[in-house]
Amino acid sequence: MQLVLPPGISASAFDSALRAFASVVGEKWVFKTDQDRDTYLDHFGFDQSAHVASAAVAPSSAEEVQALVRLANEHNIPLWPISRGKNFGYGSAAPVLSGSVVLDMSRMKKISMDVENGVVVVEPGVGFYDLYDYVEENNVPYWISPIGNSWGSVAGNALDRGVGYTPYGDHADKLCGLEVVMPDGDMIRTGMGAMADSPCWNLHPYGFGPNWEQMFVQSNFGIVTKLGMWLMPKPESIVNIDMELDQADDLGWAIDTLAPMRRSGLIQQNPSIGNWLRAAAVLTSRTDWYDGKGSIPEEVISAIRQRFNLGWWSINLRLYGPAEITEATANVIQKTFAARTAYPMRRGIWTEGMPREVQPTSGVPITFPLANAGWHGGRGSHVGFSPVLPQSGEKALAQFQRTFARYNEFGMDYHGSFALGERHITNVNQVLFNKDDKDMVERVDRFFSALVSDATEQRYSEYRAHIEYMDLIADSYDFNNHAQLRWNNKLKDALDPKGIIAPGKSGIWGSVRGGRA
Ligand code: ADP
Repeated sequence: MQLVLPPGISASAFDSALRAFASVVGEKWVFKTDQDRDTYLDHFGFDQSAHVASAAVAPSSAEEVQALVRLANEHNIPLWPISRGKNFGYGSAAPVLSGSVVLDMSRMKKISMDVENGVVVVEPGVGFYDLYDYVEENNVPYWISPIGNSWGSVAGNALDRGVGYTPYGDHADKLCGLEVVMPDGDMIRTGMGAMADSPCWNLHPYGFGPNWEQMFVQSNFGIVTKLGMWLMPKPESIVNIDMELDQADDLGWAIDTLAPMRRSGLIQQNPSIGNWLRAAAVLTSRTDWYDGKGSIPEEVISAIRQRFNLGWWSINLRLYGPAEITEATANVIQKTFAARTAYPMRRGIWTEGMPREVQPTSGVPITFPLANAGWHGGRGSHVGFSPVLPQSGEKALAQFQRTFARYNEFGMDYHGSFALGERHITNVNQVLFNKDDKDMVERVDRFFSALVSDATEQRYSEYRAHIEYMDLIADSYDFNNHAQLRWNNKLKDALDPKGIIAPGKSGIWGSVRGGRA
């Protein structure tokens, strides 16, 4: 990709900034060729040329991050921090603002574990596979909470509010204690870490006074250089209950059946109800089933379901704990479902010593779900639209029907799931597309905007957004004339008056870069 300079910066000023960066990290850790820039494109984006880094710089320590941030201020160069840059479907390693320099922290890979308390402190470059290897090799009696694309980092995922599938799956909630380089190059530690050498930094979540931890999540108020996270004690058993729901309308009662069990804590992880395309898109390609234009017709859906033995929806529950408890809980769940339906449930148990399921639900990292990007052939990609809904079967069903009709209207194949948190549902709609198909790319963009406007009408919005849509989604949070966005911009101005750290992240620009104050 050709060079796009940071806004308002001349070629010679840019060169002198890169030379200054090289004086901190060494020449070989400043990446500035066309090929280097390609590495940091959003390969899953519709229009890679809309979000192009001018260069990247890779520090090896928090001190180097501090020095780089100070230099970036001096030279007025926006930095886009990434941990490992594998945030596929949300922007990968690419910045919102073209011309930003990517601050690539994938070299920072230190892991330290307090085994007694089940707490790990990771640097940004630590991937899920790294942490898994560490835990396994050291025989640590804790499990990690991996994600479908475990190529990514533990820190980057938690900082973007990514979710896993074990009872510790709400990663932003499980972080405890951050070390952050502030936009002026200062460094803070949150919570108990505000006291030097506190042994409780990663144990007590708040410290004294206001707790700032969540302020650095999905924000551009600082760069996290260490992240404390609680890990789940290894369970003695896992009982699995899997169920197929035959009709699309079964979604409503299924949610109303699961929700009270999730609220009471009977079910500890976030169960997800997903449709037939979840499995089919990973294991096969669309052309294996259908060559026509438009959404896959009913008879093809039936053929897919038959081949993989799937319902319209599948539910996969996992129960964790001593076998006496997981077995008893499973009995209660099965009895509760039996009162609503005659659909059968498959049940199994894993106990210590048995081979683990190669699934994030068993703390094992995987990447094979990425294969779904190949559904349409060509250079495959996906983008997600994930509004948050109340935990109501009726409302979820209505949302599904609206969304499904939109998929059909735009000729896309429905790929949706409903994950139950303790009090809400996250409705993940995956939009699979082929970047080499111009017509499809153009449709996806219009389709996405239609989904946003339908949801906004219901007063629903997303929990996380692709870099292309951060402004659009931030705009949907409109209470009191966008008071929260105005507040975020005020804070940005106070902390980062030159708009150095990740301008545009979550719709926050700061007034120097045109943000609404
Ligand atoms: P992953 O390593 O899981 O692939 P990314 O590095 O792609 O995650 O980051 C996901 C999102 O979180 C990006 O928007 C990125 O700007 C932000 N982010 C990642 N790491 C940090 C960090 N250490 N400090 C602040 N923001 C970060």
